[in-house]
Amino acid sequence: MLLDDGITFIEGENHGHYPYSNSLLIKDKVTALIDAGIGKSIEELAKKEKVDLIIHTHSHEDHIGGDDFFRSEIAIHSLEAPILEKLERLADLYGLESEEMISFIRGFFRHESLRVDHKFEDGYIFCLGDIQFRAIHTPGHSVGHTCFFENERKILFSGDIDLSSFGPWYGALDSRIDDFISSIKKVKALRPQVVISSHKGVILDDIDDKFDVYLAKIYEREGRILSYLDSKKGRTLDSIVSQAFIYGKFPEVLHSWFVLMERIMVEKHLERLIEMGEVGRTGDTFSSL
Ligand SMILES: [Zn+2]
Ligand SMILES: [Zn+2]
Repeated sequence: MLLDDGITFIEGENHGHYPYSNSLLIKDKVTALIDAGIGKSIEELAKKEKVDLIIHTHSHEDHIGGDDFFRSEIAIHSLEAPILEKLERLADLYGLESEEMISFIRGFFRHESLRVDHKFEDGYIFCLGDIQFRAIHTPGHSVGHTCFFENERKILFSGDIDLSSFGPWYGALDSRIDDFISSIKKVKALRPQVVISSHKGVILDDIDDKFDVYLAKIYEREGRILSYLDSKKGRTLDSIVSQAFIYGKFPEVLHSWFVLMERIMVEKHLERLIEMGEVGRTGDTFSSL
């Protein structure tokens, strides 16, 4: 889908739903691609386009698995670069221990590490010719997660601030809820006219509302956890996790991984609630104050 002269939306397989993701092709003096997941659309693109530069939103497996199809230079935020350079660090960040989960992640890659040619920081401007994209550091989902903004047409590539109905995902050890909240507000304040989400595609309507609904998911989850803690007896972390307040229910495939992600996300909510003075901890139980 051509969004503007030289700017084309590349839909990932299965509409970019995980483990696939969407990309943006920018053809100017430099041909750049924002993100390169696995799947047919990226493989086909690699056959017909010479891409000079791949610019990454972050280092998660669903955004980088297609890098090897291109002979491009690779750019990523300096805080994400160490993960791309040594992919086993990704398994560490997910807290993965079981072989099943590690081999699932490894299945995305043909190499154990990727070369990073350019490390950038917040505010870096990619001058691709007439078209420029500015890096907007948006941590929360991951420590160096970055969105990209084209100021003339107000196009935002929002990455995994994905406006999905699931809501924000902060299930890795480098995720931070408070940062995620600030990052959603930061990109909403840019007043984009077009949002390209890694997993939801091109969004043109009700953008402000969609950011609000997405942000509200965090507070809804927190509300469900708080009501569960509102009892005389404290609740253990295991008991809170078993309620699946975030995932709703755990799928059968990779069940233990989903439980682990729920656990990491619940722990982050509990830390936040303790810091805000709304929850107290006694031994290994939590209760509302
Ligand atoms: Zn991600
Ligand atoms: Zn993703």
